Amino acid sequence: SATSLGWNFDNSYTRLPKAFFVKQKPTPVKAPHIVLFNQPLAATLGLNAEAILEDEASLAFSGNTIPVGAEPIAQAYAGHQFGHLNMLGDGRAILLGEHLTPEANRYDIQLKGAGVTAYSRRGDGRAALGPMLREYIISEAMHALGIPTTRSLAVVTTGESVYRDSILPGAILTRVASSHIRVGTFQFAASHDDPEIIRTLADYTLNRHFPECIGTENKYLSLLNAVIDHQAKLIAQWMQVGFIHGVMNTDNMSICGESIDFGPCAFMDSYDPATVFSSIDQQGRYAFGNQPPIAQWNLTRFAETLLPLIHQDVEEAIRLAEKALRAFADKYQQYWLAGMRAKLGLFTEAPDDLALVEELLSCMKKNRMDYTNTFRGLSSSLNANAPTAAQGNIDTPDFITWQQQWNKRLSSQTKSLDDAIALMLKTNPAVIPRNHQVEAALSAAESGDFTVQEKLLEVLSQPFKEDASRASYRMPPLPTAMPYKTFC
Ligand code: AMP
Ligand code: MG
Ligand code: MG
Repeated sequence: SATSLGWNFDNSYTRLPKAFFVKQKPTPVKAPHIVLFNQPLAATLGLNAEAILEDEASLAFSGNTIPVGAEPIAQAYAGHQFGHLNMLGDGRAILLGEHLTPEANRYDIQLKGAGVTAYSRRGDGRAALGPMLREYIISEAMHALGIPTTRSLAVVTTGESVYRDSILPGAILTRVASSHIRVGTFQFAASHDDPEIIRTLADYTLNRHFPECIGTENKYLSLLNAVIDHQAKLIAQWMQVGFIHGVMNTDNMSICGESIDFGPCAFMDSYDPATVFSSIDQQGRYAFGNQPPIAQWNLTRFAETLLPLIHQDVEEAIRLAEKALRAFADKYQQYWLAGMRAKLGLFTEAPDDLALVEELLSCMKKNRMDYTNTFRGLSSSLNANAPTAAQGNIDTPDFITWQQQWNKRLSSQTKSLDDAIALMLKTNPAVIPRNHQVEAALSAAESGDFTVQEKLLEVLSQPFKEDASRASYRMPPLPTAMPYKTFC
């Protein structure tokens, strides 16, 4: 039966004012076939995944059958896309509803690529297999790295073609998110003349994500501070692993602080803050090194929507919001430096730590050193019994000088070298989703072979594990594979 998965829907979003969504059922597809299913995530959600039959799963995760308790909707939102404000909304994603886990945790269950909605504009409401598999790989890799993110429960091929630059196999991804409330959702709410619309969304968000702010003196200012803090922490985590989101439009920034919308995203190989992979980002607006200031820009758009709630007097509201926004840079810097200290095996704080990190980064940039392998290699350089030779490290004079400074700094701590190595091995991943590995998995899948992706997912589920069988996943791309480009 359709209830055998164990969904437990409670759809609070459908109880918001009508402006926020339209009811919309998925458009059935011709020949749904489930190709990926995330058992560990299903277990986290409290689903009886073992009980479900393949045919049933294909129907359920394509939208061909609607689970009991689901109330499918497309959400309305706005967004600054590359700096320009547009009215948007779910053009190809349909929210089935909110599942409550046995522990009473609430998750949005969304089908991406489920057909046209009132917000599709000229789009077809569909998704191609390759981009859905990339979202699955990257989101699950982010989760394994300990970075807040939406997750991927299933991918179903549709048996239908989608027409982009070429004809591609269609697919639907089931996305699991703490919510899909975006900066752009607030921009949408603020675009109404009615101040009650924005207040309703702010109160809903406070209840759902930031209940600890509700009892404070100015709960809407507390909401702004909390969102700023979560984003500062999230972006610092991206920067620590070399993740480039690729399209940090305001509609792709989640209010609860999860990474969301993995389109033309990719991980950096050799370190360069100017790195851009997305084919649509001609100006480098969303380059690796621009992510912190872009986050601040997006948060400023968020703050603008809250001004009427923060204070009746506009000037006072602006003063309070500007103060909150100014704190972003400091918070970001603190989170980032704390993370970089851990990457260098440092337990203590010293005044020259920032300079030490910056010198390493400039050395990495100058010598085009691989970001992931350089950090992972640093711990091996300290450890005579390292399982593999240090990868990515080189013997240029500037790097040798830097290592001497770093070794001196390490010996100034009371913690042992073994403690420093242990900290580094759990902070610096051995494996990340390398672009050429991701592409290999996607092209194998497009010709019907999902084993390459399954093996990649298994390796990425333990990013800090290092053994001989994983060595090939740690190789940077051959120079001929560059420059890499992603398309969304
Ligand atoms: P994104 O660049 O993925 O953040 O998407 C921007 C907007 O375009 C969102 O409102 C999407 O729902 C919409 N969109 C993207 N692809 C499609 C499509 N194939 N059909 C309809 N709408 C789409
Ligand atoms: Mg989006
Ligand atoms: Mg997208």
